[in-house]
Amino acid sequence: MSSYRITLLAGDGIGPEISAVAVALLERVASQHGFSLSFDPQPVGGAAIDALGEPLPASSLEACRASDAVLLAAIGGPQYDALPRQLRPESGLLALRAGLGLFANLRPVKIVPALIDASSLKAEVISGVDLLVVRELTGGIYFGQPKGRVRTEDGEERGFNTMTYSSSEVDRIARVAFELAQQRRGQLCSVDKANVLDVSQLWRDRVNALASDYPGVELSHMYVDNAAMQLVRNPRQFDVLLTGNLFGDILSDEAAMLTGSIGMLPSASLGSGGPGLFEPVHGSAPDIAGQDKANPLAMVLSAAMLLRVGLKQEAAAAALEAAVDQVLNEGLRTGDLMAAGCTLVGCQAMGSALLKALG
Ligand code: NAD
Repeated sequence: MSSYRITLLAGDGIGPEISAVAVALLERVASQHGFSLSFDPQPVGGAAIDALGEPLPASSLEACRASDAVLLAAIGGPQYDALPRQLRPESGLLALRAGLGLFANLRPVKIVPALIDASSLKAEVISGVDLLVVRELTGGIYFGQPKGRVRTEDGEERGFNTMTYSSSEVDRIARVAFELAQQRRGQLCSVDKANVLDVSQLWRDRVNALASDYPGVELSHMYVDNAAMQLVRNPRQFDVLLTGNLFGDILSDEAAMLTGSIGMLPSASLGSGGPGLFEPVHGSAPDIAGQDKANPLAMVLSAAMLLRVGLKQEAAAAALEAAVDQVLNEGLRTGDLMAAGCTLVGCQAMGSALLKALG
C-alpha cells in the first residue's frame, strides 16, 4: 500500500478549524482508495512566532522538504501587524515558497452549479466554466533587476522595475502548463504582451518552441489586455491559461472572482521535483476565527488538489470534490455563502456532512 507524508501547516486564525476538517476527510478518502497518509503538524506564521519567535522555523521548512506534499491553511493576524517585516507571518509564507523553490502557481476556477448565483456575472456567461491559471511565481517584474527609485539631474524622482525572463525560466513554467493541459481538455492559451514587450516576444518564442513536444495540446496566444476582456466576456473558451508573474497576479484574481466566493478557491504551488504546497486562496479570517463560522471548502478543495497534483491520486481527488458538490446540492451553507432556502451550518457540521457524503 502506498503511503505518503504530509506536512500540515495549520497556521493562524481559522487555519486550525479548517485543517481539522481537511485532515479527517483526507484520512477517510485515503483509506477508501487504498493508500495511507501520515500528517506531520508544524508551526508557521503567527503560530510559529508565538512558539519559536520566527515565522518559518528551520525545523518547519526541513519537515516540508522531507514530505511528499505540504498542506497549508492560512497565516496572519492583526496582533502581528506591528512586527518588523522580516518577523511578520507573511514573510514566513514568502520564505516557505522560496525555500521549496515553488515557481509555478496553479489556480483552478470551476463554477459549482449550486453556487452560480454567488457570481456577479450572469449565469449564462459563467455556467460550465472550468479553467486553470498557471502563473510563473518567482521571476518577472517582481524580482527583475535593476529596480529602485532615483532622483534625476533635473530634480524629478523616477521609479523603475525590470520585466525579465530567461529562456529556461519560460521553459520550466511552460512545461508545467503543457503537461496540465494534457491532463485536462488539451487547450493551452499563453498570455503575453508580445506586440509591445521584448520580454514577451521571448516568452512567445519559447512557448512555440516547446509545442512540438506536446502534440496533443492545442496552443494559442493572447495579449493580456484581450485576455482580461475575454475572461469576463466568454470565460468558457479557456482550459489552461499560462502567464508570467505580473499578468498572472492580475488575471488569476479576475478569474477567481468569476465564482464570486473566496471561501471556495484552492491553489497549488509547485517546484521542480520537490513537494508542492497546497493552500486555499483566502487568508486567516481573524474576524471569525474560533467561532465555528469558517467555510472549510476551499481548504478541502486544496486537499483534493494535493491528492490529484501532489500525489497523483486522481480517484480520491475526484471523490473529495464530489463530496463538496453533494453537500452544496443538499443546500448546506456556511455563513459566507448563505442564501435563501439553504441551511446554515458551522465549520464542524460542514465537515461532518462531507464525511457522510464520502460514505
Ligand atoms: P481574509 O481572506 O482572511 O478575509 C477576508 C474576508 O473574507 C473576511 O471577512 C473573512 O471573514 C472572509 N473569509 C475568508 N476566508 C473565509 C472562509 N474560509 N470562510 C468564511 N469567510 C472567510 O483576508 P484579510 O482579512 O485581508 O486578511 C486577514 C489575514 O490573513 C491577514 O493577516 C493577511 O495577511 C492574511 N492572509 C493570509 C493569506 C495566506 O495565508 N495565504 C492570504 C491572504 C491574507
